[in-house]
Amino acid sequence: MVSTGLDTQDNREINADLLWSYILKDLENCMPTPSYEMAIKPLGVRSFSEGNLTLITNKAIWSKAIKEKFSGEILRALRKYSRNPEAIFTVIVDKYYTSKYIVELEKPEDYSNKVKATQTQLPLNEIQIDALKFMSSYGINVKYNFENFVVSQSNKLAYGAAKGVANEPGKLYNPLFLWGGAGLGKTHLVNAIGKHILIKHPDLKLKYITINDFTNEFTKIMYQYKGNPHLKNEFINKYRNIDVLLIDDVQFLEGRDGTQNEIFTIFDFLHRNGKQIVITSDRPPKDIPTLTDRLRSRFEWGMLAEIKPPEFETRKEILKLKAKQNEINLSQEVIDLIAKAFTQNVRELEGALNRLAGYISIEEKPVSLEAAKEILNLNTIAKKLTIEEIIKFTAEYYKLEPSELKGDSRAKEIVTARYVAIYLSRELTKASLPQIGTIFGNRKHATILYAYEKTKEQKEYDQNLRIEIQTLRQKIAREYFCT
Ligand code: ADP
Ligand code: MG
Repeated sequence: MVSTGLDTQDNREINADLLWSYILKDLENCMPTPSYEMAIKPLGVRSFSEGNLTLITNKAIWSKAIKEKFSGEILRALRKYSRNPEAIFTVIVDKYYTSKYIVELEKPEDYSNKVKATQTQLPLNEIQIDALKFMSSYGINVKYNFENFVVSQSNKLAYGAAKGVANEPGKLYNPLFLWGGAGLGKTHLVNAIGKHILIKHPDLKLKYITINDFTNEFTKIMYQYKGNPHLKNEFINKYRNIDVLLIDDVQFLEGRDGTQNEIFTIFDFLHRNGKQIVITSDRPPKDIPTLTDRLRSRFEWGMLAEIKPPEFETRKEILKLKAKQNEINLSQEVIDLIAKAFTQNVRELEGALNRLAGYISIEEKPVSLEAAKEILNLNTIAKKLTIEEIIKFTAEYYKLEPSELKGDSRAKEIVTARYVAIYLSRELTKASLPQIGTIFGNRKHATILYAYEKTKEQKEYDQNLRIEIQTLRQKIAREYFCT
């Protein structure tokens, strides 16, 4: 008998959560990773009583797949850990159930790696392995290159500049400052630059670092050694020795004075010596409010290139490329569906693709349009979401009246709620700025745009606001977009 530690004193009642955690561990080891990640891990557990374990999912597809494909494995583990050879399980579907793991799955990178890991890949030869180790030691993520970046109107300026810099580091644009919204390919391009340079000039010393890692490294040295000038110099010298410095996500540099000084020193030194610097940010330097002026002006010295969200055709092309790379077979109509539904962020496109890949690997058959809609929560748009509805939701959430959101009050909490409602109206409906303005008490279109932009920017650094908006979006999505 295995000792599971699951029994309570009287040996009759078993804690369902604990039991499920044992079963999960067991299944994780004996099931294919994509199936486990997709169908099993996100399950919730409701109860274990009279030998019946009740599990929850929010998707009818999973309940069916689990019964058909995995019931043998689950029963085996359940009977082992409950020590009840007759134990059974039931999966109930509750469309409002959200698992913390579902959120995790939205991060496509994690998942696609796992999917990849289970696919058979040709063994690399030693030279290739050395090359990979070599690049990784500089912080470069070798999966990103220029060849697997889809170029279009939305990013061709950034792409061209990145290629230029990769071909002639230190000569063309210095610094190159790439900016654009999350998931639009900044990290991809910056790594492609690094990879290209390392292949062409393996003698150059190159460093890819995110601003957070840079700050952490610096703060740690300063903290551990109480500002020891010797170590500080060592840190600075290390970066001064670099030929190509790639710094990702400088928007997070906001307000870190100590780090800003060091960056400035390093930056100035490298720049004066003709070393290439590439910087990325989710906004242009002028919109990083707490950037010191001298650093801002340095960032603006070279070339600023914006990456915009890809157009519909480009989104389709990206999907096709990624599907091919990951050996996922999708019909044209499913590709169209994803490209229509996810418009602002390539990472979301990949997330959608990966969720479908999980389904395909479990079902072992192509995904139909209907199944794709269900998996991606794009099923029936049951009711049409109007701006009035958004105002109602937002007012309710902030415990205000819809009329207050449309009115003129400048009270802080009312303005916040009003801005959030305007932001969501712009994000979630197809209404134009003037149309939104009319409903929000006949406000001008510029006022609406200001409220939208302001909220969009503020939520980047104001965590409370971000959570409020996320919660509201989820509430709305449940009513309007769920299955
Ligand atoms: P950012 O750094 O701007 O937040 P990333 O570079 O991490 O975005 O891109 C997110 C994902 O989208 C990556 O997997 C990247 O390969 C992919 N991606 C973004 N733009 C493109 C593109 N134009 N072509 C191919 N893949 C892209
Ligand atoms: Mg990035």
